[in-house]
Amino acid sequence: MARFFKKRRKNAGPNKNEEKVQRAADALSRESSGGVLGARYPFVKRLKITLQFFSPQQTLLDEKVMDIKANDPYRFDADCPGRCGNGHFDFSEAVANAVTRRRNLSESGGVCPQPIFAGASQTCGCQAKCRIEIDFLPLPAAPAGGPAAPAGGQAASA
Ligand SMILES: [Zn+2]
Repeated sequence: MARFFKKRRKNAGPNKNEEKVQRAADALSRESSGGVLGARYPFVKRLKITLQFFSPQQTLLDEKVMDIKANDPYRFDADCPGRCGNGHFDFSEAVANAVTRRRNLSESGGVCPQPIFAGASQTCGCQAKCRIEIDFLPLPAAPAGGPAAPAGGQAASA
């Protein structure tokens, strides 16, 4: 939950234009290096992400459904629809966790931490809810004579 956001803001506080340029650059590098879902997650057959954005007053602001198949390019982020104007939600980590744990359904979420306008102490407070549904391809057969795939073997890792 707490890791839903990637902090992009540096201490020096870049202005909005710089952030926009940076974001465009991020998007570009993602797109040029990204490729399709199946290249990144070979065992994912289909990935459906439902995003809902709520205002701090719990009003539904926007809803987005992404239905990504193995041959489709993917995007695991979204701009905040709130008043901040430059917030950004990144749920690539939530997707990565769901894939690693082979979870068919998982949910994630977070609150936009951007100031409501430059220099404001009040934060945007928009809330994103993210529902991740995954259809997996079967794992390759275990080597003959080997034990069954260890389930949850790394659950206790820090
Ligand atoms: Zn925001």
